[in-house]
Amino acid sequence: LSERLSGVFDRITGRGALSEKDVDAALREIRVALLEADVALPAVKDFVSKVREKAVGETVIRSVAPGQQVIKIVHDGLVELLGGEGEPERLSLEGEPPVAILMAGLQGSGKTTTTAKIAKRIAEREKKKVLVASLDTRRPAAMEQLAQMAEKAGVPSLPIVAGQTAVEIARRAMSAARLQGFDVVILDTAGRTTLDEEMMGEAAKIASETRPREILLVADALTGQDAVETAKRFNERLKLTGLVLTRMDGDGRGGAALSMRWVTGLPIKFLGTSEKIDGLDAFDAKRLAGRILGRGDIVSLVEKAAAEIDHDKAEALAKKMAKGKFDLNDLRDQLVQLQKMGGLGGIMGLLPGMNKQMKAQAAASGFDDKALKRQEAIILSMTPQERAKPDLLKASRKKRIAAGAGVGVPEVNRLLKMHIQMADMMKRAGKGKGLPGMPGGRM
Ligand code: GDP
Ligand code: MG
Repeated sequence: LSERLSGVFDRITGRGALSEKDVDAALREIRVALLEADVALPAVKDFVSKVREKAVGETVIRSVAPGQQVIKIVHDGLVELLGGEGEPERLSLEGEPPVAILMAGLQGSGKTTTTAKIAKRIAEREKKKVLVASLDTRRPAAMEQLAQMAEKAGVPSLPIVAGQTAVEIARRAMSAARLQGFDVVILDTAGRTTLDEEMMGEAAKIASETRPREILLVADALTGQDAVETAKRFNERLKLTGLVLTRMDGDGRGGAALSMRWVTGLPIKFLGTSEKIDGLDAFDAKRLAGRILGRGDIVSLVEKAAAEIDHDKAEALAKKMAKGKFDLNDLRDQLVQLQKMGGLGGIMGLLPGMNKQMKAQAAASGFDDKALKRQEAIILSMTPQERAKPDLLKASRKKRIAAGAGVGVPEVNRLLKMHIQMADMMKRAGKGKGLPGMPGGRM
């Protein structure tokens, strides 16, 4: 246990404020994590430098490694950048009906699918009458595709009339909606595979014709470094009001969302999470921040550590250990603290770079959560004297304790051996400067 524990907590220190060195070391990792998550380079650079400013000099949380604390600061910064923790963004549908929503984006980004998804959502949740219309005159199948998706959504689509331009269809959609008492019209535009002036011009024309309340840029979450340029160009021409990131169900970590938010400052309104009609989620900044960082969930580890570790006990323990004492009561305190943090298994699940094999190894060596509970039960089955003086524990006492804890004698022996090893390590550490290996432990 001692070795593994110290592995988990070996960077625990008790300095007063985060140093530049600590911050920079952690930020190097963050930079890599963000780039791996496909956040565009300029966004990464800008973000990291802002976090650096904020983190250096921040008061250290004693029980947490400086690197982990920086990650927490980074995480909070990401959440803020992504729009904060408040209520999810809503579409603004006020004004005289019919209110238009214009969908823009590159071809294949998911505009048509998202059009139908949003239509369903507005119809169901806002109880509004919604009409969808495809302005995609380039691909013959595109209009039919929207009609089919709309049917799945239970929302009417504008009848297809051949030979009209996109602007003409948009006009027809608005007047049909006005005549038929629709509240909302969602206009699905044609995209191109690359940014080009003709597509932008057409979309701008449709926008000036229909005066949409919302112009949503639909983008594939798997877009990499192009995300910034795409968002910037669309936003310059179209006065976007929000972003929708599709394919969040894919393998990507969603860095494109961050890049696009960073360059446009626009709210992310929805995330597409499947090809199906219901695959649309309200945006959650905290969840996306966690995903972009991709650190297992180191942030909640830091939160747990900060909240759960009992500083007073740690301090008292440190004093005892300085005198070379570490009895079974102290061991129990450690076991309880570990359990509070979700057990060793829980902690490892939160740590990056822990693979299945390593977890299995730890479990096999008896430090899974159940083992922690049994070990605690063993100690609780001892008398106070026994706990304070483990030397008292001879065969008959061990038998009684094993029976009391519902385990076998070998398990009692293993615990005692572990205790001796830990006490040993403590003694050595106590002679040195600090106390590696103990949560919150410091002199
Ligand atoms: P458009 O060219 O922008 O209209 O894009 P489409 O709506 O036609 O979508 C292109 C492809 O992406 C289709 O096969 C969709 O089913 C798929 N798609 C759209 N949104 C999502 C999503 O959120 N998740 C997944 N897995 N696929 C999506
Ligand atoms: Mg389409």
